[in-house]
Order: sequence, then structure tokens, then C-alpha cells
Amino acid sequence: MVEEKPSKKRASSTEEKMRFLVEALSKWRVVEPWWQSERDPYRVLVGLLLGNRTSYALRQRYLPKFFEKFPSLDSLLEASEEELVEALRPFGLYKLRARMLRELAEKIAALGGLGAFLSLEPSKARELLLSVPGVGEKTADIVLAALFGKEVFVVDTHILRIAKRLGIVPSGSDLYEARRIMEPLIPRDKRIRVHLALIQLGREICRPRRPRCSECPLRPVCEYAAKKQLGASLSSLVARRASGPL
Ligand code: SF4
Repeated sequence: MVEEKPSKKRASSTEEKMRFLVEALSKWRVVEPWWQSERDPYRVLVGLLLGNRTSYALRQRYLPKFFEKFPSLDSLLEASEEELVEALRPFGLYKLRARMLRELAEKIAALGGLGAFLSLEPSKARELLLSVPGVGEKTADIVLAALFGKEVFVVDTHILRIAKRLGIVPSGSDLYEARRIMEPLIPRDKRIRVHLALIQLGREICRPRRPRCSECPLRPVCEYAAKKQLGASLSSLVARRASGPL
């Protein structure tokens, strides 16, 4: 069967751009997130909670040490506040994070343990997560995707930047508005893949500074790239005129 290429015709509406994006990124190579190969749900849960607003390098360096000290929810419950704070110091926001992990462990223990938490309806699990201080909607939804297989489309700062540059969301949008606009336009079974692909695109190509538009699969539908191209064409026209005969 011959694979159809995404149409190069300039898409103008949000729906058209999103259709193009989903199609183009379905062929984009995606690095599997670490949680897909992690079998211990405790590590997935705590890793995602501590991974929020923590650099990749910090996570790589300090998460294994944290899990050596606290290998289970029970170990979090048994730890003193000082021990937790000390172990969380390298991650920053350590007091808030210590309180977050302690409250989460208490709430899950009150339910009957991690098994009981994992058998909750996703909406109930989300409620519980959001009732823990320091857990926001973005983190709760990533946990739902990782542990409950929920087909959500979570918007982070990379995705928001790309969406604004493409002209899919208004320039003043926040993460939540971007999600409200984009999520319904992505087929459920593609939401996690598109989320991962956009994050990768944001890290490697559509970087905050000097995006590498010439290598970007979304260029045909990108307002930012079109403006940049127009600016470059005008500059070269002006330069040609300036150097031409009077
Ligand atoms: S074309 Fe450029 S600005 Fe637009 S999404 Fe791609 S890298 Fe970002």
C-alpha cells in the first residue's frame, strides 16, 4: 500500500493544522518515555511526581538514590519528615515535595494500598492526586496516562511554544487553554504519541531560541516559519535594490 504524504497545501484553520500535525508526527521517531519500561508502579508514580519541574539530568542522578532509600510507599510512611526533606533536597522545593509524598502515601494507604489505588476509576484516581498539595493537573494527567492507560493529551511548555508558533492557539494562551483547543482534535489512540513527539520536537528542533525550521516536519503549516521566510525574502529584495544601479 502506498503511504500518502501529508498535504503540502498551506493549512489555515486550527482543525486543518492539527490534522496535518497528527499525520506528520505519526511518522516522527519518538523516544519511549522511561515510564513505559518501568514495571514498578510505585517508581512510576513517585518518579513522575518528582520529575515535574526537575531537569532530566537531576532526575537521572538523584532518583535512583531516592529509590534506594525509599523503595516503597510504606518506606515513605515510616520515614521522618527530616529524612524525607534531606533525601529530596537535590530536587529543590524539598519541603513541598516531602509533604506531597507523605500525603500521597497516607491517602493511598487509607485506600488499602497501591493495588487499591490502581483499581480506582481514572476519574477517582485523578481526584485523589489533585487533592495532594503540589500535584497539578498536568502531573495528574501524566500519571493517568502512565499508570491507567488514559488517552490524554497533556500540554507542557514545549508543546505550548510550538502551538503558538504554528498559530494553532492564540499567543496569550496558557497550558490549559492550549489543551482545551488541541486535545479534542487529536484521535484518542494518538494522543500520547503526539504528546511525546511534540516534546521531542520542542527539545530538538523547535527550540526556544533559534528553531531549526528547515528540518521541521511542521513547517508547511507554521505561521512563525512563514513570517521568518517573508522577512528573509524582503531583506534580500531590499539588499538587491540597494546594491543595484541607480
Ligand atoms: S517550522 Fe520552525 S517555528 Fe514552526 S514548529 Fe517547526 S521549528 Fe517551530
